[in-house]
Amino acid sequence: MKRLLGPEFLMIPGPTSLPDRVRTAMSSPAMDFSGEAFAALAERAFRGLKPIFRTEGEIFLYAANGHGAWEAALANCLQPGETVLVPETGLFARVWRQMAADLGLETQAVETDWRHAVAPERIEAILRDDTAGRIKAVMVVHTDTAASVCSDLRGVRAAIDAAGHPALLMVDAIASLCTTDFAMDDWGIDVTVAAAQKALMVPPGLSIVAAGPKALERCQAGRHLPGSYWMWQARLGKLLYQRFCGTAPIQHVAALGEALAMIEEPGLPAVIEQHRRLAAMVQAAVERWGSTGFLEFNALVPAERAASVTSVRVPGDFDAERIRDHARLRYGLTIGGGLGPLKGQIFRIGHMGFLNEAYVLGALGVLQATFRDLGLPVGDGALEAAIAATTASPG
Ligand SMILES: *Cc1c(COP(=O)(O)O)cnc(C)c1O
Repeated sequence: MKRLLGPEFLMIPGPTSLPDRVRTAMSSPAMDFSGEAFAALAERAFRGLKPIFRTEGEIFLYAANGHGAWEAALANCLQPGETVLVPETGLFARVWRQMAADLGLETQAVETDWRHAVAPERIEAILRDDTAGRIKAVMVVHTDTAASVCSDLRGVRAAIDAAGHPALLMVDAIASLCTTDFAMDDWGIDVTVAAAQKALMVPPGLSIVAAGPKALERCQAGRHLPGSYWMWQARLGKLLYQRFCGTAPIQHVAALGEALAMIEEPGLPAVIEQHRRLAAMVQAAVERWGSTGFLEFNALVPAERAASVTSVRVPGDFDAERIRDHARLRYGLTIGGGLGPLKGQIFRIGHMGFLNEAYVLGALGVLQATFRDLGLPVGDGALEAAIAATTASPG
């Protein structure tokens, strides 16, 4: 099939659609990385990020993707041979753990079926048994984008505290930030990792790490893996050349400032509420489609379903890529596929960032047409249910 006229309707869980304001900011001219104009942009970004993470801690910006932010968090807080505990809620948790192992850390997974979050009691039990204090950090992926499972971070913090364990709590909030409630300081999170290209609506290539006092103490004590680009100590310097460990990604920082302004205009709570509403629409549709048993949510517990992405499973003898291909080639909608071992078994509807009801209803309508074209036995009433979910919500 030939691609037809019209925009690409992009609903993958990152990179997300770019607002025109952000794209315009990306075309900012070259400027002196130590001059006043860039200093104002950098200051604006560093200042604006703190309320997004809800932290008074330090913010570090890297010219890197989410994997870079993962490595930065590990490199600053841990040293070779130390042990980290990783609840494995999906592929992203697995890959972050593998990175820790590659960097020379001992890793211990808390396994799941990738359809449930890890019960905090399991984490508590493991930490209680660790009387020697071997475990130095618990690494949690807040929303695992592959599984669309969202973990209860307050529950994990409570588990660490109940065990009286000193491990740091390190969180990957790449796919949850700005889409669901998140409060780094209030929830006792020591390190948060984020990336620009999800709900922050900025092109890929910029990542963010926020560090609280316990994490900063660790890096200052020199207790860290070898590395230089990632190191917080140098980046705490006054010069922008130090803060960015070299030339800053100027256009990305300008774009981030514009995206932050777009979030500040309605306010973060309204942005989070909008994500909740859009997720409720998608979930209402999937619920109806699933009533015949052909499709089902990957995340089995409703309260654990992510506000930013929905993974939908198909039967074992059906290739989910057929749905993706048809929606893209016939109707111009791009959704995500299954990652790693889930390839062909699920499709993923991304609903984060620069989106609204029109996009979501459009995507759900395209999926409805795709199911019809492919003759798939899904349940009726999905679009009506999605529309009902718009009116059932406040605001
Ligand atoms: C997208 C994503 C990543 C990886 O980010 P990259 O920029 O592709 O390195 C990591 N964790 C989560 C939860 C993600 O959604």
